[in-house]
Amino acid sequence: MSRWRKAQELAASSGIDTLLVTPGADLRYLTGYAALPLERLTCLVLPADGDPTLIVPALEGPAAAASGVDVEIATWGELDDPFALVTELVGDAATIGIDDHMWASRVFALREALPGALQVLAGSLVQQLRIRKDPDEVAALRDAGLAIDRVHARMGEWLRPGRTEREVGADIARAIVDEGHVTVDFVIVGSGPNGASPHHELSDRVIEEGDPVVIDIGGTTELGYCSDSTRNYLAGGTVPSEYAEFYAVLEGAQRAQLDYAGPGVTAESVDAIGRTLIAEAGFGDRFIHRTGHGIGQETHEEPYIVEGNATVLEEGMAFSIEPGIYLEGQFGARIEDIVVCTADGLEVLNNTPRGLVAL
Ligand code: ZN
Ligand code: ZN
Ligand code: ZN
Repeated sequence: MSRWRKAQELAASSGIDTLLVTPGADLRYLTGYAALPLERLTCLVLPADGDPTLIVPALEGPAAAASGVDVEIATWGELDDPFALVTELVGDAATIGIDDHMWASRVFALREALPGALQVLAGSLVQQLRIRKDPDEVAALRDAGLAIDRVHARMGEWLRPGRTEREVGADIARAIVDEGHVTVDFVIVGSGPNGASPHHELSDRVIEEGDPVVIDIGGTTELGYCSDSTRNYLAGGTVPSEYAEFYAVLEGAQRAQLDYAGPGVTAESVDAIGRTLIAEAGFGDRFIHRTGHGIGQETHEEPYIVEGNATVLEEGMAFSIEPGIYLEGQFGARIEDIVVCTADGLEVLNNTPRGLVAL
């Protein structure tokens, strides 16, 4: 069954008469069309019952058709009102499901065009489908994992004392594309004390001998799937004496989480098993973020591996396991792998060495 047909079934069972989906990961997931979010309206009108229509600006018509979408395409001319087209297709639908990433300007324009309709958020509905990857999606994530592993394996070409984080980051970004991605999504080079800031990106700080360096990188492949992996490096010199013990705690926690996670356990229990070990070692208040996030056509999506998420993991769910410990003013470390639940265990998609890599 096509993905949009499954979405129709979910819409019907949740009391949504019509789903409206504008460019973004939901549209790509449902139709295969990777439309750019532009000022001209592109919108999938997906009734719970009946045939869907993809509304696109006339000049995008050929691109939409070339993407192989299996729904009818309706184009609008430069001077037409695309919202009139939506109104016509929506008819007297009482409840309209809006994708979570729709621009606020569109949501308000739709409210004006359809004053009698109730708007509800439909992101969680599509997430219910996206959260379980089919074998093709798992293969695409596996390729993305291999591609980012190849970049990590080349780190010694670029990471050296005397270079700035920004210089190293520029080389990494080029390699992310060279090794099999079409876009660079993020490059974090956190050297020395900058490693204690989980989402530090790049700065002009010069990397020094003996600096532990946190490298967290990811991109999107041609098929639209994301990679995301963090490793820790030492570019010459020796790390501070307290680093080894600190790093062993983190490695032990991440290992325990990899060994434990799999179908049938809850997302929050995966978080807890690592957090407990880190807390027992005295670093509980230094693990300042959740353990992980789902990944697919977006780097962050369901399921979130966090306290309070009782979602039971199932075959096909893909997510990161990335505990971190951050000592402000000194250094930090995070170890991150993307994993996929199989029928009876876990497939780990990142497999470069997880220990501190001395270059
Ligand atoms: Zn993050
Ligand atoms: Zn991540
Ligand atoms: Zn990451």
